[in-house]
Amino acid sequence: MKTPFILSSALAIHAAIVAHEADIESLDRAIGDGDHYINMKRGSEMIAGMYNELLPLPPEEALQKISMKLLSTIGGASGPLFASFFMGMSKYLKEHHAKINETNMHLETAAAFAYGVQSMMMRGKSNVGEKTMLDVLVPVSTTFTTMAAQGKSVAEICAAVKNAADKGLEYTRDLLATKGRAAGLGERAIGHLDPGAKSCQVMTHTVCDLVLKEMKQ
Ligand code: ADP
Ligand code: MG
Repeated sequence: MKTPFILSSALAIHAAIVAHEADIESLDRAIGDGDHYINMKRGSEMIAGMYNELLPLPPEEALQKISMKLLSTIGGASGPLFASFFMGMSKYLKEHHAKINETNMHLETAAAFAYGVQSMMMRGKSNVGEKTMLDVLVPVSTTFTTMAAQGKSVAEICAAVKNAADKGLEYTRDLLATKGRAAGLGERAIGHLDPGAKSCQVMTHTVCDLVLKEMKQ
C-alpha cells in the first residue's frame, strides 16, 4: 500500500459518500440520531484536505496522522472507531515494513486491513452479528485475506470483496442491534440496514473500483 493510493482513496471515498447522502442519512435517521452522514462526510473531507501534508510520508505515518485527525475532529461512535482502524493499520505496517515487497503486497495489505478491523473491534468491544459496520468489514477482511492467500488476481479479489460487502450489509437488515445507538430500539431496528454498514459497503466498492481503474492504466 502506497501513500498516493491512500490519498486517492480518500478523495474517491469523499465523493462516494456525498453521492450516497440520501441512503446514509435516512438509515441513521431511522435507527440512529441522523449524524452518520455528516460524520463520514467531514471525516473523508478532513483526510482529503491533508493531501499535501501526507503525500511525502510513508504509508504508516500517513495512516497514523489520519487516525489522530479523526480522533480529534470526528465525534460520535464512528470517529474513534475509524481512528482505531487506521491506527491498527499503521501499527501493522510499522512492524512489518521490512518484509513487505511486490510479491507479498496483497497478502500484507490484507493483513494490515485485518489488524485495523481487529483494533476497531477492541475499541468498540464489538463483533459480527451486532448490526454494525463490522458486519461488512469482517467478511470483507476475511475474503480479502483468503483470496490473497490463494494467490487470486486483483480482479478476482475485488469482485469477491465487493460481493462480501453487499452480503454483509444485507445481513444487518434482520439483526437486532446490540451495540451503538440502535441497541436501544430493540425489535424496532429490525428491517433497517445499519448506517455504518452502508457507508462501509460504499467505501469498499469505491476502493475496489479505484484499484481496478488504476490497474487498467
Ligand atoms: P453515533 O452512533 O455516535 O451517532 P455515527 O452515527 O457516526 O455515531 O455511527 C453510527 C454507526 O457506528 C452505527 O451504524 C454502527 O455501524 C457503528 N457502531 C456504533 N457502535 C459500534 C461499536 N461498538 N462497534 C462497531 N461499530 C459501531
Ligand atoms: Mg449517529
